[in-house]
Amino acid sequence: MKIIRTKADLRALTESWRRAGETIGVVPTMGALHAGHLSLVERACAENDRVIVTLFVNPKQFNNPEDLAKYPRTEDSDAEKLTPHGADILYVPDGTQMYPEGFATTISVAGVSEGLCGGARPGHFDGVATVVTKLFLQCDADRAYFGEKDYQQLQVVTRLCEDLDLNTEIVGCPTIREEDGLAMSSRNLRLGAGPRKTAPMIAQVLEDAARVIARGGHVEQTIDKAKKALLSAGFDSIDYLELRSVPDLKLMTSADRPSRLFLAAWLDGVRLIDNVFVADLASVGKSKDRPLEPA
Ligand code: AMP
Repeated sequence: MKIIRTKADLRALTESWRRAGETIGVVPTMGALHAGHLSLVERACAENDRVIVTLFVNPKQFNNPEDLAKYPRTEDSDAEKLTPHGADILYVPDGTQMYPEGFATTISVAGVSEGLCGGARPGHFDGVATVVTKLFLQCDADRAYFGEKDYQQLQVVTRLCEDLDLNTEIVGCPTIREEDGLAMSSRNLRLGAGPRKTAPMIAQVLEDAARVIARGGHVEQTIDKAKKALLSAGFDSIDYLELRSVPDLKLMTSADRPSRLFLAAWLDGVRLIDNVFVADLASVGKSKDRPLEPA
């Protein structure tokens, strides 16, 4: 795997691949790679002739300077972790490659970027939309791979490709979890030993609430109960815990359409997010074997 740092070097490679008729998959990341990222890389390698993993800690998507400063930067070990997985390139642009002096364009997606993390982190999705558009164009990507862990981001990026007629197909991939159910995240590294033991409660509480709601339980009461359980277990605060329809992310008061429960909560000074599928009421109970989570 080659490490490339400039747009010009990247373009020379992508043009040679194009001349050979090869397809290009891209996996955008901010580094500190874990098995969640690597699952996207494996899928990309299975579906494309060439794969570019990008590593760029995008300042435009951080609304909190302290969060940006604390974000782990581990390029060497990231490159090592990627080596056995078959990506062709690790593309590591710096700030001047991405946002040269005079840079003045922002891409802003309405609708799906409002509420949830868009509400809690003003400007976050403008930063995401702007950087991924640049990365797709720089990489000349046929496909780009995103995790369902950041489900709202996946919808924002899907919308923007459709609206801007970009030739990049967005592929959503399932959330990879630790054995105790905690969704893998670079931020988990910042949890102290005690809070790390508390953190898997996020997934448990979400799964339990999803089951209750899918069987007709009262949404508001179920959500209130889940929030109380998290706060009494030691979570500092909850940014949101909401039921939203998929894929359009409308706020729901009952599961009369397929939906997801979305949570962002603070623990030990770390903001953790997760979401789980909630089957719609019409489909639950029709077949005893029907799984709550789609295959
Ligand atoms: P990040 O480096 O956090 O910006 O994430 C890069 C990509 O990896 C995004 O598409 C994330 O949704 C995805 N990702 C992060 N964590 C996971 C996970 N636990 N499972 C699957 N995908 C993930």
